[in-house]
Amino acid sequence: MIPIARPLIGDEEKQAVLEVLDSGMLAQGPRVRAFEEAFAQMCGVSHAIATSSGTAALYVALLAHGIGPGDEVITTPFSFIATANSILLTGARPVFVDIDPVTFNLDANALDAAVTDRTKAILPVHLFGLLADMEKVCDLAAAHHLAVIEDACQAHGADHKGQRAGSFGTGAFSLYPTKNMTSAEGGMITTDSDEIAAACRLLRHHGVVRSHDHKELGFNFRMTDVHAAIGLAQLHKLDQFNAIRIANADYLSRHLQGVAPPRVPAGYRHTFHQFTVRVPHGQRDAMAAHLKAHGVGCAIYYAIPIHRQPYYTDRLGYTDCMPHAERASTEVLSLPVHPSLSGEDLETIVATVNVFGVSR
Ligand SMILES: *Cc1c(COP(=O)(O)O)cnc(C)c1O
Repeated sequence: MIPIARPLIGDEEKQAVLEVLDSGMLAQGPRVRAFEEAFAQMCGVSHAIATSSGTAALYVALLAHGIGPGDEVITTPFSFIATANSILLTGARPVFVDIDPVTFNLDANALDAAVTDRTKAILPVHLFGLLADMEKVCDLAAAHHLAVIEDACQAHGADHKGQRAGSFGTGAFSLYPTKNMTSAEGGMITTDSDEIAAACRLLRHHGVVRSHDHKELGFNFRMTDVHAAIGLAQLHKLDQFNAIRIANADYLSRHLQGVAPPRVPAGYRHTFHQFTVRVPHGQRDAMAAHLKAHGVGCAIYYAIPIHRQPYYTDRLGYTDCMPHAERASTEVLSLPVHPSLSGEDLETIVATVNVFGVSR
């Protein structure tokens, strides 16, 4: 089976972990600091704050912007559920706007109509490694004095005209094993604001300003030095990993038949966390079964839009109708694109997809 994702852990990561274990500094030590500095540099921002997960990064970023009960945060329904759940956890209400059917990202032209006097922030997701339309998002946010929190959990190193994910507002990244780089589990918050960075550091570690001096209510959302050592070694390989993903995506786009490959608007560097095609209506599930039967791993991101998840409909009473997100959830299929695919794997993926169309 060609897997849909495979983390690439080499000797560098193994050596770095052993060095941490030998050092005796296992948590919040020099590796976390070094990883934060290197990650901030990669994004082109002045601060990065390491956390225990991408979900913790999103949650802490929202809290640092003062989001809480009574507030509304505008976001997309076509994402991993952590995006909207992190808003719920603060006590605020996620307000969904539909997606652009071409990019799968939230439709920036639909934002204006969703703003109310309770809106405090916009939380776009850079889905599958493609930045949302940040020019429009940031313009609208500035006009209404809203915070921008980027869910960049799938977009390490992605950019628009050279400006990287995580540098438009406050960024939140995940370092889970399936992402473009990993620390096993982990997350990162990025910001240019000294105040937001300071607030995030307080929330991450029980509101401690100095030893024993707890200024705020906080959490233990810290990253360990063991995880930071893995993350730092992976960060050095990120550009190379992304370049291979982009080349794999290019090959697949040029050779696949009968499905619509991802479209990359001009000026964007799509880093292909997922290579997500649209399958002709009504054929998606049969194609997924065909691929799996022939040894090609594939996955549906996302089979149920967030506003249709049982917790949102049954418990929270969401009745939204989001036609583009709902249609996408019945047509999308993600194919392997990760950097450990061989040339033979790519040929197998293409042949298996293409024969499905021919056999119908
Ligand atoms: C992975 C992911 C998250 C959550 O990250 P974790 O590290 O698993 O907590 C949030 N949003 C999106 C879009 C993701 O892909």
